[in-house]
This record gives sequence, C-alpha cells and structure tokens, in this order.
Amino acid sequence: MKLRARRLARCHELTYIEGVRCLLAFVALALTACPPPPPANPPPQQGYNQPYPQQPYPYPPQPQNQPQPPQNQPQLPPQTPPQNPPQNQPVATPLLAPLFGALMWQAEARAILAELISHLDPTFAARVRGIPMAFDPDVTEINAFAGCDDSGSAFMAGTEGLLEAVDAIAQTQATDELYGTQTYEAYLQVIIPRILKADDKLGPALPLGSIPAQYMLVPQRLSRAHEIWDDVIAFTFGHELAHHYLGHTGCAVGQSQGPSPAAIGRLASQVIPLLNQPNEVAADNYGLIDVLDTGRARRPAFQWSERGALTLLQFFDRLERASGQAYVAFLLSHPNSVFRMTIVRGAAAVWHLQHP
Ligand SMILES: [Zn+2]
Repeated sequence: MKLRARRLARCHELTYIEGVRCLLAFVALALTACPPPPPANPPPQQGYNQPYPQQPYPYPPQPQNQPQPPQNQPQLPPQTPPQNPPQNQPVATPLLAPLFGALMWQAEARAILAELISHLDPTFAARVRGIPMAFDPDVTEINAFAGCDDSGSAFMAGTEGLLEAVDAIAQTQATDELYGTQTYEAYLQVIIPRILKADDKLGPALPLGSIPAQYMLVPQRLSRAHEIWDDVIAFTFGHELAHHYLGHTGCAVGQSQGPSPAAIGRLASQVIPLLNQPNEVAADNYGLIDVLDTGRARRPAFQWSERGALTLLQFFDRLERASGQAYVAFLLSHPNSVFRMTIVRGAAAVWHLQHP
C-alpha cells in the first residue's frame, strides 16, 4: 500500500515533466526535419570506413558564437570537397529527431531490441524473437533485466528510472561534446546523492535548467543526444537479452506470451537476480558483439559502438564509488563496473580486429 502511494506520486510528477517535454518536443520537431529510418538491410558501402571513436563529433559548428573573419582579408576561393572522405576523418550522419518523454523512450527501446534480435545468430534469435519488453513505472530505480514470469514466459524489462537516467546522460554529454560545457559532471554532482537516497521521489531525471537555454533546442544537440541514448540503451538491453538466449534465465524458448503487468511489477520491485560472475561476463561479451554487429549494419546511419557500454558503465562506476553500502539494485546484481569495462574493451578490440 505504501509502495502504491509512492508510485502514484511519482506518476503525477512524471506527467508534469512530460508536459514540459512535450511542449519542447513540439517546438523542436517544428525546427527539425525528421530523416527517414535506416533501411533494414542497407547495401554494403563501398570504401566506407567510419572511424571509432568519433571524437570530436563531426557535426558542423553552430553559426552563433563563431569568430567572424576580418573584413579586410582577401576571400579564399571556394574549395571543391573531396569525392571520398579521407581515412580517419569523422563522417557526419543524418540528423535524428529528438527523443522526449517516456512514451518515445519506450518505443525507441523496443525498436532497438528488435534490431538487436534481427542481427543475432539464427539459433539465438529463435529463442528471443518477439519477446515482450515491459517497463516498470518506478522512476527512482535504475534497472533493466531479463525475467521469467509466473507462467515461465520470458520477458525483458526496464524501469522508467533507467530511461530517465540514460536521457540525462545523453542530453548532458551531447551538450558537452558540442559546446565544451561541463553539464554531465554537474548532473552527476546533483544526482548521485539523490539516487543513493532511498526515499527520494525524483530519481535520476535531468533537473530543469541543466542544459543552457541557448543550446536546448539546437537540432544538432538533440540529434547527438538521440544517438548517445540509442547507443547506451542498445548495450543495456543487448546484455539483458543475452541472458535469455544464452540460457541463463532458463525460460527463453521462443514461445513467450508475455507476463501480466502485475507480474512485471512484482518482479521489477522485488526480484534481484543473484550475481553470477561467469554469466555476467558472457552476457557482456555476447551483448556487446550483438551491439557492434547491429551497429555496423546501420551504416551509413549512426553506427552503434562500445561507447554506449562504456558510457553506462562509467556512470555506474561513479554511483558505485559514491554508494558505499547503499542499495542500488543494478549494482548488486552485476559485477564491479571497472571489471566490466575491461571485459567490454577486450571484446571490442577483438571485434574491431575482425571487422577492419
Ligand atoms: Zn546481467
């Protein structure tokens, strides 16, 4: 009963925040041309080689705040752009529409899951194809997991708090990349004590005013945030999906009907899977390779990479170092984040050698 009351309060807050976001999304969509979705099976790109990591990000600089050339300097003749981008030069990707609010995040996460499944080994894909993805309305808990409901059907689940946290990470890191600000660090300073406080009702949502107003609706920033969000969520659910098709949950046999909402709520709130180190290492390995394979197939659209995994794990590492003995479900059910980053970097290095 106490839990129910707490959730209703959170839903009320979420509705308000989303109201603001919807307004912002409306304005942003009016400013932004929505590009067509990438083809399911894009043709191979001859000679295309998008380097990793993409630092600095290839979006053109914003016209405002740029120094103007002196008036008395001679004009340089226009240069003909090269037909093929040189090796190791970042390649700009089409602008993506902004992602705002729980409904858009949920739809995006489900689309990412389907894309990840479509690039699995056929045997693995058959075990998880069509698996339902549910979202727990808890905005304070940051968690994702592969679960089995009471009737033995497999499902995927994430909390609203997870989607909020990844949004905040993406929004701030996109801003910092493009404008040299320190909004991500400022976000962590505010949010870590809030997340670790068990009775906090706001969770990891990005506090209003975190992004400087002049950058808020810039299409390049919103598009870059969308890319980072996708990259982080792809690894998050790529890892959880691997627990199913690798047989760790024991219920993914390709016949999932989906759990009842009540069952999901019960599982999301109460069941913390026991830490199994070999299984977690395997899920990180397989999940990352699935993300990289799927990301590669997305070219010339934005290519997912190990950056999403490292971004998520660095965030958890900051939480872990600040938490002491605090209760953070995701940290209790997964190995040390620094250890996981080593696994991810090793698996990515091997993958990149195999996919020059
Ligand atoms: Zn896991």
